[in-house]
This record gives sequence, C-alpha cells and structure tokens, in this order.
Amino acid sequence: MSPHHFEKFLEAFIPTITTKSKQLNKAYWLLETTGSSDAADLKAELDAEYRMLFQDAKTYQQLLAWDEDVNLKSPLLKRQLNVLIREFKQNQIPKSLVEEIANKEAALAQTYSAFRPMFEGKTITENEILSILKTENDPKRRQQVWKVSKEIGTVLAPQILNLVELRNQAAKRLGYSDYFQMQLDLQEVNDEWLSNTLQSLMEKSDMAYSKVLSALDEAMLKRFCVSKENLGPWSFGDPFCQCDPLDLLELDSLVEGVDIPSASKRFYDTIGIDVQSVLDRSDMFERPGKNQHAFCINMDREKDVRTLNNVEPSIKWLETVLHELGHAVYELGFDDKLPWLLRAPPHMITTEAMALLAGRQAYRHNALLRLVGNSKEKELLMKNAEASLQRRQLIFSRWVLVMTAFERELYRNPTQDLNALWWDLVARFQKISPPKDRAGKHDWAAKYHIGLAPVYYFSYLLGEMFASEIEEMMSQTMGSSDFVSSKVGTLLQQKLFAPGNSLCWSALIEHVTGKPLQCDAWIKQFCDVNADQIICKLQH
Ligand SMILES: [Zn+2]
Repeated sequence: MSPHHFEKFLEAFIPTITTKSKQLNKAYWLLETTGSSDAADLKAELDAEYRMLFQDAKTYQQLLAWDEDVNLKSPLLKRQLNVLIREFKQNQIPKSLVEEIANKEAALAQTYSAFRPMFEGKTITENEILSILKTENDPKRRQQVWKVSKEIGTVLAPQILNLVELRNQAAKRLGYSDYFQMQLDLQEVNDEWLSNTLQSLMEKSDMAYSKVLSALDEAMLKRFCVSKENLGPWSFGDPFCQCDPLDLLELDSLVEGVDIPSASKRFYDTIGIDVQSVLDRSDMFERPGKNQHAFCINMDREKDVRTLNNVEPSIKWLETVLHELGHAVYELGFDDKLPWLLRAPPHMITTEAMALLAGRQAYRHNALLRLVGNSKEKELLMKNAEASLQRRQLIFSRWVLVMTAFERELYRNPTQDLNALWWDLVARFQKISPPKDRAGKHDWAAKYHIGLAPVYYFSYLLGEMFASEIEEMMSQTMGSSDFVSSKVGTLLQQKLFAPGNSLCWSALIEHVTGKPLQCDAWIKQFCDVNADQIICKLQH
C-alpha cells in the first residue's frame, strides 16, 4: 500500500462522480426553474445513483486503511481522503433504509409544497400570509392568519416524527447517539464548542436584545392599540418572529425604480469582481411553476455558476440578489489548481459568511448610496435601514438559538411533549410569551427546516459571526470595512475563496482572520450601542 494507490483510486473514481454530479445538477436546475414532474423523477433517480457511488463497503474500508497510512503525507491528498471518508460513512447503512429515508423526505417535501390552508373562505399561500402580517393593522385578523399559518404543522408532524425515527436509526447504526450528533460530526462541528459559543453569544447579547424587544413592544402597542398581554407573536411581520417587523414598507420605497440585478452588478464591480457571467446564466424573475425562493448552484465546479431569484422591487430582494451573488463569487473563486473534490466550501458557514456580508450592504448607509442613489427623502430611510440591520441581527440570532436547541432535543428525545418544548424555548430565547391555546398543537412542525433541512440552521448564525470578523479584519488591514475598493475583492479572493475545501472550516476561518471563530466581533457590531439610540431610531 502506498499513497500512489490512493492517487490511482482517485484517477478512476473522480471522473465518475464528476459526471454524475453534473447530470444531477442539471436535473435539479430544470426542476427548480420549471417545476416539471419529469425533471422531478429524473432528479430523484440521479440523486439515488449519486448516493450509490458512495456506498461500497469495501471501498470505505480501503479509504479507512489509507487514512492510517503514515506515508500519505500530502495535505491535499489527506484532505481529499477526509472528504471521501465522511461522504462514504453516512452511506454505510442498509440500502433499504437509505431509500426509505429518501422516499419519505420526497413525500414530505411534496406535502409541504402542496399544502394551502383556508383563510376567510379561500385557500391562502405563504406569501399571502406574509403580506397580511406585513400590512394588517387589525390584531384579531392578524391572530387568525397567524393561527392558519400553523395548520401545516399538524399535517406534517406525523411525517416528520417518522423521519426523525429513521434518521436516528441510521445514526445509531453508525455508532452515534442520535442524528443531530451524527450530523455535527460529519460536518466537523464540535458539539461542546457549538453549545458554548451559542451560550456565550446569548449572554453577551441579552441586554441589547431585551432593549430591542421592549422598543418593538412599544411600537406595536401603539400600532395595534392592544394591551401588552394581548400583543401575541402575531404582532411580528412573520409567523416565527424571526425578522425585524418595523419599517417594512418604508424601506421598500428605497428601491423604487431601481434595477436590482444591475445595481448588484455595480456593487460587485466596485470590489473588482465581475458577476456578469453569473447573471447571464441566472434565472432572475418570477414565473409560474418556478421555485419561489432563491439559491445559488455550482453546476460543474468548472465556472458554470448560476443563481435563482424571484426579484421584486423590495429591499429584501436587493439583499437576496446580493446574497446569492455572494455565494456565486465564492464558488467562482476557488483556486483552479485544486482537485475537483476540493473545489467546494468546507462548510456552509464560510460561504454563508460571504453571502451574508454582501446581503448586509442592502442596509448599510454607505453601500446604499451607491446601490440606490441619493436624495433628500432617501437620506432618512437609509439611516432607518442601518437601524433595521441591527434589529434584524439581534432578532434573527434568537431565532437561531430556538431552532438549534429544539433540533438537539428533538433528536435526543422525540417522544417528549415537543410543542411544550418549542414554546419553552421561544419564551427562553426570544422572550415571547406563548399564546394560551397551543397545547396539543404541532407549531414546531410548521417550520420548513425542521423536517427538510435538518441540523443546518446554526450555520446562519456562525456565518453572521464570521462575517463580522471579516469586517473587523477589513477595518484593521484597510482602514475601512466599506466595500469600496478592488482591494476588498482581492483580499476575499485570496484568503477566503481560493483555498476551497483544502482546509477544514475552522482552520479556514483562522487562516482568514488569524483567530478561531468567536462571537465577539458580532457582539461589538450589533450589541455595543446605548439603548436610547436603538429606541430613538425605532421611533422614526
Ligand atoms: Zn445563503
């Protein structure tokens, strides 16, 4: 046995997965841009075929043996081996179980997208629910639509619980206590570190969050003319109280008449990164049958990078286009000399950081001046946008704490009273009082990610923390954290994008910032303000 054997194996194995992965991505793109059922079938078939490539037990044993080989010294070879071992490991369960999980996930996704609750005698979509929560001033009607938004939970809960059991079965077969623990391990995330980091962020941001919340309460009590006990979670602008509910319509007027894709391109031009090739390949506007959200995909790891959006004239879509292009420039920035397996981010945390960093610019005064132009009326709105960014960060961080703590408990003990647990966590982290009549309901199951994007949510908050560290580093090395010169693009390109997956995510973060990931830069950015400032800003 020698390193040479592993290299020989790669020579034969990589072309197979390269081809299959390209086919799978094409089917996925077709499905998401058209909603065609043929594309859905094709995608499911290719998905299963792709997974099969990582199932062979003998190959897995061989990979483990190479991992013990002291002669295998090249860091790039060792990292490729590490990536393959983790990919193979999760597939070392009986084929029937893999298939059962895949089928049940597909069925759950279908139930999720087909479900439309009834409201005021008609079926209602997710967007319509959001729109009512954005504009309605009658608290009774808000409460009704909020309750309707939870009905999907009752439909999905049995399916999700069934999947939780199967996922736990798979994890136990591989020697883990449960699926949550398995996922963290496969993602190279240390559970104790994660718990401590989130706990520390919670403690350090507690006062700032409480101040934001009481300012929100004050604004909403005025708006809805109710007593504090009757405010309820429906006073927020979304069903989970995860977004900033203030100034929603006012901030949208900032992008009136703005061509959002062109403005986004101009933003990337100033930091010396050309996104035209991505925009040319992207699908930007709403169309029947098309996926209603947004994502970025690297089709071939050979520079065919695309984004899907449904651009509307709102600040949220300006943020989203900047965000998805952030993922895209990251994917385009891998060192060309890296082997195919390593032309990927090491974890969602690092690519989210870039996307979130770009998305934040939609709320930053200096960036907005360039993105949407300046005028007297816009000046005040831009200040409000900055205040909104701070509130958004604090509000969203609490939501991530709820999601992460809930998932940990869901997989540890799925037979407990999950709805009671859910509202306990909401009360503890978001400090929002549970409504009285929720016992026996399945409010936890109404959130898409619980069933369909499991053990993933914490990446958003760790991504925000890393984004703040990058901004801090930019201030220190370039004298400004504003995205105004091509130096920014060069720095990100060389430090963050180029290494791809040649380093584990925590090592990559240290490579970029010189220290391990911590919450301090985020705390400094979003909590280190005096209360009067938040409240006075809120009153605009
Ligand atoms: Zn993202």
